[in-house]
Amino acid sequence: MKFILIEPRGFCFGVKNALEIADTALAEYTDRQIYIYNEIVHNKTIVNRLKARGVIFTQNHLEVPDGAVVIFSAHGVSPKIRSFFMNKNLMVVDATCHLVEKVHAEVQKYTNKGYHIIYIGNPSHDEAIGVVAEAPDQITVVQTEADIDKAAGYEKYMVLNQTTLNMFDTEELRNIIASRLNNVEFPKTEDICFATSARQQAVKEYADKCDAFIVIGSANSSNSKKLKEISESLGAKSVLVDEASEVTKEWLKGVSCLCVTAGASAPEYLVQDLAKMLREEYGFEQIDG
Ligand code: SF4
Repeated sequence: MKFILIEPRGFCFGVKNALEIADTALAEYTDRQIYIYNEIVHNKTIVNRLKARGVIFTQNHLEVPDGAVVIFSAHGVSPKIRSFFMNKNLMVVDATCHLVEKVHAEVQKYTNKGYHIIYIGNPSHDEAIGVVAEAPDQITVVQTEADIDKAAGYEKYMVLNQTTLNMFDTEELRNIIASRLNNVEFPKTEDICFATSARQQAVKEYADKCDAFIVIGSANSSNSKKLKEISESLGAKSVLVDEASEVTKEWLKGVSCLCVTAGASAPEYLVQDLAKMLREEYGFEQIDG
């Protein structure tokens, strides 16, 4: 029995940046209550550690009092939330990933030029909520092929998307959109971020080398879920777990070659904990990726 820690995996630069921003705020504003609007990144362990350091997470902007510090998460916020906080007597710290900001800017740019936006994404994800709120009347959210018809009847379209989608499914959906509607354009640079696509490509590459995948990440992390989804679509048995203790003896039964990866918001120490458990408790041999 062997396992491979595949690369790239784990933290992307957007997550690293957001966590550094939170650390700096905690060190700097020791006399003020720090709030984070939404989860700083979608990872249970990280959120719990920040809570233990006194940070309050909120999804209700009215809950943040004057004098506090509020940090925007890596997934960004709607223009309404941004301006609400900017106009209050508090300190705003913005940890939005600049690749998410790029999509906000694209919505502004193309709606000003008269395009109707087709936004491929999950409408209940924090990132999508913020982006769609830039121009809700000029955007149709598409999650599946069945949603495309809702966007019919406009003169010209720009197709944008959430940064952490399944790159293979999104490509397919883009092609279907282009074949169903007229005057469909795409942005010059890709919206699925490099960190997401590189981790997904790695899963694809290793899927025929092993028979099972463990993805470290939280259930609400879009990019982590996509890693599990892609490995399963390629025929591997796959599980998404927050930490090593969730991997059971029953699940490992019959697995001879295992790949381990981690979503962009999952800390490396959780991967190393899992590797230790696989070696010491289950007798797996760790081999180089
Ligand atoms: S996954 Fe991509 S878009 Fe999201 S924070 Fe990381 S780099 Fe930014």
